[in-house]
Amino acid sequence: MKKGSTKKTVKKPVETRRKVRKTVALQSVMGMRDILPTNQSYWQQVRKVLEHEAEEYGFSRIDTPILELKSLFENTIGNNSELIEDELYSFSSRSKDEVALRPEMTAGKVRAYIEHGMDALTNQPLKLFSIGPNYRYDKPMDGRYREFFQADFDIFGEMDPVLDAQVIQIAHRVLEKLELTDIQFAVNSVGTPESRKEYKKLLIAYFESNKVKLPSKYRNMIETNPMGIFDSKDDKVLQVCAGAPQAIDHLDKESREHFKNLLEYLDELELPYVINPQLVRGMDYYTKTVFEIYSTDKNGNQYALGGGGRFDRLIGDLGGEPTPAIGFSFGLDRLVLEMKRIGAKNYKPQVPRVYLAQLGELAKKKSLKIFAELENAGILIAESFGRGNLKTQLRQANKIGVDIALIIGQKEALDDTIIIKNMVSGIQETITKEKIISVLKKELKLSEDFRKKNGQTRRVVGNVVKEKVNRIQRKKRK
Ligand code: AMP
Repeated sequence: MKKGSTKKTVKKPVETRRKVRKTVALQSVMGMRDILPTNQSYWQQVRKVLEHEAEEYGFSRIDTPILELKSLFENTIGNNSELIEDELYSFSSRSKDEVALRPEMTAGKVRAYIEHGMDALTNQPLKLFSIGPNYRYDKPMDGRYREFFQADFDIFGEMDPVLDAQVIQIAHRVLEKLELTDIQFAVNSVGTPESRKEYKKLLIAYFESNKVKLPSKYRNMIETNPMGIFDSKDDKVLQVCAGAPQAIDHLDKESREHFKNLLEYLDELELPYVINPQLVRGMDYYTKTVFEIYSTDKNGNQYALGGGGRFDRLIGDLGGEPTPAIGFSFGLDRLVLEMKRIGAKNYKPQVPRVYLAQLGELAKKKSLKIFAELENAGILIAESFGRGNLKTQLRQANKIGVDIALIIGQKEALDDTIIIKNMVSGIQETITKEKIISVLKKELKLSEDFRKKNGQTRRVVGNVVKEKVNRIQRKKRK
């Protein structure tokens, strides 16, 4: 035996591997989670509805990077906000750029809007829609994650309050389509930066006089971001906020008129809303309209599903052509939770009603092609091509609860035929491959009609349907 090829040297890597296995923490990062296949039908439904509404209302899709320069968020959301100070995931890249994971989507969208010269386009208003993950180093709890998903609708280039009403209408439509009905909209106006100057002075004076009641974190915000204090989730802070002067009482004429018009549009649309004078929202960039969307459970707990507002100054402030804009975002995680909370039942994954079983090498090869043909015809099929045993495959078909099994054995593969077996009656017949789609569609329709009429699932139907299917098939064959 050569030196170096002793048992000892063979063993070492195995031990090392074991050690590595033990030390890898098999858990996701705190506040981040996997969205498992069992939940995907809800997510698909939410995405489908959001994307559909975006298309219906003329939004174009835009995808911007998750990673942006940190300064973008500081200059848009505001340096002194909780979102930047406490919740931003930021770090130096290898090239020493200060970068951050996006905590929301508007900043990146506005950057792209200016960078690609969309602010100079004449076909305004421009409607842009995005959907994707966001990151906030928030305290994780039920419904609050460090990685969460938002769908963001923004309209650039129009200052008419009819657009404010339209985005609220879109939010409403999305909720309606998701059958989420027990929803409240809260609206407010935070005015313009000019009208806020006087108001901020009053607010600072108020918070100064109530300083002792505020935790130190909020005391530090009094001078730099007094309106941000309203965004606190701390009950003690909210009690202080309840007595504070309100932005709505200090609006300039233009903002007051804008808000009044918005309320008239909402009334006209018969959209339910409440005016919440405490609502300011955390980003510095908001002007005039702000709104939030909530649901409330039977214990009175409120869940924020989305929110937004106008940001008429942001594009100009960042160096673009001054362009008014309004937008909002929905929290997808919250929409899914809400669907589950109210017990929405319509989002079960589609279950295949046909199973394709095969026996033998040639049959397996042919099955792949037939699978694709059936899929093209819009028929959802289950299979387990990796299994060779027909009994196992049919057991699997039964477990899924399909109505029909298609079987291709050695003989059928050679003859270009397929056995079509009704899983309820057990009756089977052999048909030529060309006829498969038309026969299958008829068979599926038959069992669908039967289910509708009897209001039963295939499993329950069992023997009841057996005789009926027997009769139909006998008649068909004659
Ligand atoms: P915001 O950008 O803070 O106005 O948030 C808009 C919506 O995103 C909220 O109404 C929530 O539905 C959702 N959202 C915000 N933060 C989180 C989070 N940490 N986890 C889950 N959803 C969130």
